[in-house]
Amino acid sequence: MYLEIKNIHKFFGTGENRTEVLKGINCNIEKGSICVLLGPSGSGKSTLLNIIGGIETAEEGSISINGDTIENMNEKQLSLYRRKHLGYVFQSYNLIPNLTVRENIEVGAYLSDNPLNVDDLMKTLGLYEHRNKIPNQLSGGQQQRTSIGRAIVKNPDLLLCDEPTGALDYKTSKEILKLIEDVNKKYGNTVVLVTHNDAIKNMADRVIKLRDGQIRHDIVNTEKTPAQ
Ligand code: ADP
Ligand code: ADP
Repeated sequence: MYLEIKNIHKFFGTGENRTEVLKGINCNIEKGSICVLLGPSGSGKSTLLNIIGGIETAEEGSISINGDTIENMNEKQLSLYRRKHLGYVFQSYNLIPNLTVRENIEVGAYLSDNPLNVDDLMKTLGLYEHRNKIPNQLSGGQQQRTSIGRAIVKNPDLLLCDEPTGALDYKTSKEILKLIEDVNKKYGNTVVLVTHNDAIKNMADRVIKLRDGQIRHDIVNTEKTPAQ
């Protein structure tokens, strides 16, 4: 899916506390690419991701997906858009605690018209041998793999990842990034990944740096190197 972000302005708070957290964001993200959103804490990365994901709305500007503008969608269309076209991966995994790995991933599959094969996906993610465990029997990395599984099983056009390695150690973080990269190669989903970790930028096709609600750098990465 081709993603167009036009002149996004977002405010939080009221009266004296009203602050502009996104100050006119413009960018187009190509289908099948990996875009990394970098920037210090508080620069507006998560807010932008949530606006792209239809979770928050902007006061000004528009987001369009293959030419369909999400502001023009009614609640029903928007929920269909989120359900069918979006996969969300959070830092905090958000797995359902009393469901197994397989069942958590199946939750994602039920939402989709053309889900991926759950067994194949669990094998790709290195989860097959853990399929009957519940989240608290898993390591952080395995829980994050499961949450990626739940998002990606829908075969979404757009995979949005908010600090997907934020809670993980260095080695596990690298494995998770490699996995996101493998998934992108294999299924061709467009990926937008938020992080404050500068080291992640090598895996991206596109690196956008936010600072204080504005794009400070927008770089096409011609020296993309695979995660190892
Ligand atoms: P589909 O979901 O049908 O595969 P595409 O993402 O290929 O859709 O294209 C949807 C629309 O966006 C088309 O009109 C296409 O011309 C346009 N489009 C796709 N990629 C780009 C791009 N990089 N720059 C400008 N327009 C694009
Ligand atoms: P980042 O993801 O880059 O850390 P955020 O998008 O989370 O940044 O936040 C950008 C700014 O907006 C911060 O100053 C934050 O305090 C503020 N903010 C985020 N969410 C809310 C909210 N729901 N209400 C008020 N302020 C918020």
